[in-house]
Amino acid sequence: MNMLSITVRAKCYSNGSCAIENLSFSARPGEFVAIVGPSGAGKSTLLKIISGLDTNFDGQLDFVGQARVGFMFQEPRLMPWLTVAQNLALVDASATGSRLHQALERVGLGDCSQLFPRQLSGGMQRRVALLRAFLMEPQLLLMDEPFQSLDDPTAEQLRAQLLSLWQATKPTVLFVTHNLQEALSLADRVLFLSAGPARVVLDVPVDLPRPRCLDSSGVQQLSQQLLADYPDLLKGRLACPS
Ligand code: ADP
Repeated sequence: MNMLSITVRAKCYSNGSCAIENLSFSARPGEFVAIVGPSGAGKSTLLKIISGLDTNFDGQLDFVGQARVGFMFQEPRLMPWLTVAQNLALVDASATGSRLHQALERVGLGDCSQLFPRQLSGGMQRRVALLRAFLMEPQLLLMDEPFQSLDDPTAEQLRAQLLSLWQATKPTVLFVTHNLQEALSLADRVLFLSAGPARVVLDVPVDLPRPRCLDSSGVQQLSQQLLADYPDLLKGRLACPS
């Protein structure tokens, strides 16, 4: 896939409110980009535009139709009447037998292929959803707060599995979160959005060695430094209101 380049001059809803204005950024092939912004900033709207689900906006995406795009949402969205194996077969019919077993082993679910979603914990369901997102071998993977509302150890385990799958296949990843430390622990680069209408207010490279835990000293120091430099960064502002 080529460089991803996104420009949204305006995305306004029919009620007249604009969720995005003058937002633009690029991502290199294989780059892991986290997108951080306050609630209601327009992050989900942005991912819907990039995924092609919403074409009603003023702007330009230069890769549409050229990339296989995967999506992982806040909820696992597994089909409850299908087993794990059948859920995965929906995106990759060749995921059977030893190939399926190996894939499930990568996320620690080697023995779960015949179970139904209701027989899995929330964390296990997310692991199936994570594997499903990678099974289609996306060139661009869009992730909308995929590990929200999990307990810390489960979320940490999923982040490690995400990084291992990403490092093996290197899709470009756009990972939306409102958790600064999660963004810094995962990404090559973090884009901070303004409160709605969304635009990019700060673009920060993260040059820390991997693997990085949320509470590693590098992540903590960078997070503290950013918040010391920009106390209102997570509210979407670089300068404090006077
Ligand atoms: P985030 O994901 O950052 O929390 P969203 O993209 O969900 O933000 O929403 C951005 C803004 O757009 C919010 O003000 C929200 O109320 C508004 N919005 C989202 N979807 C619609 C819609 N279908 N119609 C009108 N307004 C919407």
